[in-house]
Amino acid sequence: MEVIKEMIPVVERLKREGYVKSEKVIQALLKVPREGFLPEGLKEYAYLDTPLSIGYGQTISAIHMVGMMCEALDLKEGQKVLEVGTGSGYHAAVVAEIVGKDGLVVTVERIPELAERARKVLKKLGYDNVIVVCGDGTLGYPPLAPYDRIYVTAAGPKVPKPLIEQLKDGGKMVIPVGKDLQELILLEKKGGKIFKKKLCDVAFVPLIGEEGWKEY
Ligand code: SAM
Repeated sequence: MEVIKEMIPVVERLKREGYVKSEKVIQALLKVPREGFLPEGLKEYAYLDTPLSIGYGQTISAIHMVGMMCEALDLKEGQKVLEVGTGSGYHAAVVAEIVGKDGLVVTVERIPELAERARKVLKKLGYDNVIVVCGDGTLGYPPLAPYDRIYVTAAGPKVPKPLIEQLKDGGKMVIPVGKDLQELILLEKKGGKIFKKKLCDVAFVPLIGEEGWKEY
């Protein structure tokens, strides 16, 4: 895919501010047309680095958040990645650019209308290495587990146990945890042990499900 020229100044700023540094994340952000994932009427704001409404009370993540989470995950070509919270499908497309044709992104969304819309957009843009599943992502997606990387784009009360179980040994997970005050956590599984590190404070929509908030 071509470089999106409106994205160049955004990515230059993210580089200066330290959100992104690796060439693979920079190139992926430059190539994915964010406007394609936005509803009509909001497409003109696609290259503003801010979350935007995608309907159903949900949002497309800000560009710096997508870049930062990709950097923290240390994604590599050929990896199998689980995303919980497809939303618009934008973040999944950026990850799909990085893991490439030999990799796979499995993304789970609980709202059927959003899952269907993301599935259509991703197909139209040629992201054959993304599978959109409609369901409760707090339970992960066992049929394609284990995963090299897992990331969650909604904040729950804790790290869901099924996600820890479905992460490969040597794997990494990025997940926001909390309600009013949320922390973005980087979790690594090494030799069967779990290591956690706080990355920063964040504000995500709620993770609703069996291993998330029951209601909000
Ligand atoms: N990364 C997305 C993007 O780029 O558009 C943004 C995702 S939005 C901030 C979070 C999404 O998580 C929402 O679409 C919401 O419906 C979804 N969600 C919340 N709880 C979920 C769950 N248990 N399983 C799957 N999706 C969930």
